[in-house]
Amino acid sequence: MGGMPGVILPGNSTVELREFPVPEPGHGQVLVRMKASSICGSDIRAIYREHLGHGPEAYQNVIAGHEPCGQIVRLGPGCKRFREGDRVVLYHIAGCGVCEDCRHGYMISCRSPLRAAYGWQRDGGHADYLLAEESTCVLLPEDLSYVDGALVACGFGTCYEALSRIRLSGTDRLLVVGLGPVGLAAAMLGRALGAPMIIGTEVAAGRRSLAQELGLFDVVLESNDAALGRVLDATDGRGCEASIDCSGSAAGRLLALQGTRDWGRCAFVGEGGTVSVDVSPVLIHKQITVYGSWVTSLKHMEDLVERLVRWGLHPERTVTHRFPLCDAAEAYRLADEGESGKVCIVFDP
Ligand SMILES: [Zn+2]
Ligand SMILES: [Zn+2]
Repeated sequence: MGGMPGVILPGNSTVELREFPVPEPGHGQVLVRMKASSICGSDIRAIYREHLGHGPEAYQNVIAGHEPCGQIVRLGPGCKRFREGDRVVLYHIAGCGVCEDCRHGYMISCRSPLRAAYGWQRDGGHADYLLAEESTCVLLPEDLSYVDGALVACGFGTCYEALSRIRLSGTDRLLVVGLGPVGLAAAMLGRALGAPMIIGTEVAAGRRSLAQELGLFDVVLESNDAALGRVLDATDGRGCEASIDCSGSAAGRLLALQGTRDWGRCAFVGEGGTVSVDVSPVLIHKQITVYGSWVTSLKHMEDLVERLVRWGLHPERTVTHRFPLCDAAEAYRLADEGESGKVCIVFDP
């Protein structure tokens, strides 16, 4: 079927376009024509700047991109459900399929040496075609765009999981710390799940103004020494019943915990780094429950695309920049600046 360009991330903040053969789907596999392939904060943190990852985050010089969405153009033998022409989001990790976590649909947590994530250990979405396991395909509803789908593949899926895990409901005010693409996703989904008040905090001015423009938050604050006081001021001195850290920074996590009301719940989804807490006043005496939450399950991803349609929501709203594959270097440079919304590589518009 000829060749195709694909993006490799050699480290040192560089992007390389190489020529690859178009893959042939084997048993249980499908060939997906890429339509949208967005860039995740993890690509920047653990691959683009330098190859930091170990284990599940070890980048093995494959085609990058773990947020792929496209259309099935060829089926390998033995496929059981999907058809040529189906529009699909890829759950971005192929697990062993038989361990406890895989059987629950949490292939992200599979510890088998057979586990491989698109864009990390096996070729990902930054190429014209992706060779995918049928078992990782999630049918994209007609009402959602390919860009909507790409955003579900990691960021929106991750937020949906975390907000479900802390059982966010209409009785909760929500504090979102870190207003990058994941923070924007948390607000969009938080509102749909019923949160009547959503407060966002962010260091970068560009991201604060984007959050304002999108109208996803009731209050947008600068993350600084005064932020906690302002969160309390906005919540009768009590803090928010639910909070989520999407910043991945020590200061951000502390703010999320301190801004959580007594008996509240706080989820950490921002990756990397550490946090230092004064345990008695911040956690124990406030009776707080802290959740670590990593990506989502296949089942919850299917639930999410169905609900996005019902809610009339389009994750695509959080995309500020689109690039063709040949401009992937510029796309990564921009995503690395940390001032924009979501950056997405799009194919044949
Ligand atoms: Zn990701
Ligand atoms: Zn497994």
